[in-house]
Amino acid sequence: MKIKTAKLLPKIDVSYSNGGIYLQRVRCGKSNCKCARGETHTAYYYFARVNGKLRKTYVRKADLEELSELVDEAKFNRDRRRTVLKEANESVRETRRYLRENKDELEKQKHEFLSQLIRDATQPLIENKAK
Ligand SMILES: [Zn+2]
Repeated sequence: MKIKTAKLLPKIDVSYSNGGIYLQRVRCGKSNCKCARGETHTAYYYFARVNGKLRKTYVRKADLEELSELVDEAKFNRDRRRTVLKEANESVRETRRYLRENKDELEKQKHEFLSQLIRDATQPLIENKAK
């Protein structure tokens, strides 16, 4: 991320993590503009939820490209996080299912493994004692 994008931030104290840019028909309010005669024009706004409330911020044409990149990047990261989390949850579910379905076999293997460990650990002692 480029440093100069930081200049965009002060106007609204929200991260770009949950917002989107939308084109809206507007009236600018200038009395000499065509929109005063009913011909609305379009402008870009950044919409984001802040504490549950929708906030709308005008986006200057000059900032549009840069802001779009930030918003796209945030959306990409958000989607990626969601995917990773979904995969992790699925993996946990699969592991739980496996453990549940193979409980007896796993108990048996654990028991065999521990028995073998004990046999291996005590073997030399028994042999030494025998001598
Ligand atoms: Zn206007």
